[in-house]
Amino acid sequence: MMATTAAPASAAPTTDYEVVIGLEVHAQLLTASKMFCTCDAQYADTPPNTLVCPVCLGLPGTLPVINEQAVEYTVRTALALNCDIPEYTKFDRKNYNYPDLMKGYQISQYDLPLSQHGWLDIETDSGATRIGITRVHLEEDVAKLYHRRDDLGETYSLMDVNRSGVPLMEIVGEPDLRSPEDAGRFLQTLRLLLRHLGVSTANMEDGAFRCDANISLRPRGSDEFGAKVEVKNMNSFRAVQRALAYESERQAAALTAGERITQETRGWVEERGVTVSQRSKEQAHDYRYFPEPDLPPLVLSREWVEQVRTQLPELPAARRRRFVEQYGLAAKDAGLLLASRSLADYYEQAVAAAGPEHARPIANWLLRDVVRLAGGAAAVADSKLTPDHLAAAVKLVAAGTVSVRSVPEVLAASFESGQPPAQIVEQRGLSQVSDTDALAAIVEEALDANPKSIADYLGGKPAAAKFLVGQVMRATRGKANPRTANELIVKALESRRTS
Ligand code: ADP
Ligand code: ZN
Ligand code: MG
Repeated sequence: MMATTAAPASAAPTTDYEVVIGLEVHAQLLTASKMFCTCDAQYADTPPNTLVCPVCLGLPGTLPVINEQAVEYTVRTALALNCDIPEYTKFDRKNYNYPDLMKGYQISQYDLPLSQHGWLDIETDSGATRIGITRVHLEEDVAKLYHRRDDLGETYSLMDVNRSGVPLMEIVGEPDLRSPEDAGRFLQTLRLLLRHLGVSTANMEDGAFRCDANISLRPRGSDEFGAKVEVKNMNSFRAVQRALAYESERQAAALTAGERITQETRGWVEERGVTVSQRSKEQAHDYRYFPEPDLPPLVLSREWVEQVRTQLPELPAARRRRFVEQYGLAAKDAGLLLASRSLADYYEQAVAAAGPEHARPIANWLLRDVVRLAGGAAAVADSKLTPDHLAAAVKLVAAGTVSVRSVPEVLAASFESGQPPAQIVEQRGLSQVSDTDALAAIVEEALDANPKSIADYLGGKPAAAKFLVGQVMRATRGKANPRTANELIVKALESRRTS
């Protein structure tokens, strides 16, 4: 090959650029009441505008009161994300006009957030990657607008105030992500963490977990960031990845054509698979932030923060590693068990009941049969099939009382009725015949009925014993313990050799 050959003129544009992504996630907190009033915060399935009071309606003359539970959940999350919790924090007013914000301002946090400088490790194609967490702060959600069109085609909007004032935790990530796929992994890892911490349902489809994605491109090798675009309106993990993939292509094409990327907010249009410009990005001064005069600053004692830290549950990543080491599980199975904290808890209860030597079969039956019966990992813990029942079923197999082939039936029946497996095995006559005396008689009958097999075996064809085992299994309608049957048959055949 000639050393002077020129490089191909038109490489695919995206390969010339490095993608830079930083995510901002809003998660509603699972508190009983709203952020600054006593209204119920869990508004799912409640009729519109029923969880409302003068405070969350933003009426003049009302005073907000800080929800301690929300502060604790935010600190819990921040600690799990390895953030620093400053001693002194405060709330600020973020002013803007929009119909979903009746007060004309949102109580949020500006320059002294509840926490900052943390990180979250994610598993990427190139191993574990540490993604910086800029801050985790606390604010209030706004009312929900429904945009409608009447019979004459006129548009109008409806407002539901139930969501107004629900505690909202904002998690701001550093621009450390380098691909839409890694952005997806970051969100998955974060959602799992929030669920493990019990601070949020983190369900994206009902708006409890919302993501704004910031993305820019820079020439490969450059260490300066390019102008970023903020993308909104994604309602699923898939949509986030699709929007980011679209946006990286769009920006690459623009840059390749010599255009400049303008800093702006764009909306993802799911049906068309494109982003469209919404507005040029506002600067912080547009919000005229100032300290919330109706709330005192929050001083978080070090003792309290340490108490919250000691109460942290084992985090998903650590627990997954422990499952692999302690129970000898495949990494993939450990990951599946960790998909829901309640499933992981269920698993460990079953292992505790059966004994650690049964850890792997329990994982297998749980992931294969029980999750399917329950209709999903998160529903297993609520099923009538308890961890004790699963443990009992697995022990019945290990003891040779039931054959592996009967387990799906036992589990399904126990799932339906909540009956213990031993009772089901008894009622349905599923126990294996391992009783040697009972089996010995059946073995003798099988031998008497098949003299040719005896001759074959004694003549040097050991496979003939297998045929006889099959005959015994058939005679017992599958309930003979195959290993015991085999032992008895070989013994009976050998006794004929010497006689
Ligand atoms: P803004 O002032 O527009 O809110 P911030 O600096 O607060 O910007 O960052 C908001 C989000 O944008 C963060 O998640 C951050 O990681 C991300 N971000 C910042 N700069 C870039 C960039 N050049 N490219 C991609 N994402 C970025
Ligand atoms: Zn209220
Ligand atoms: Mg910002």
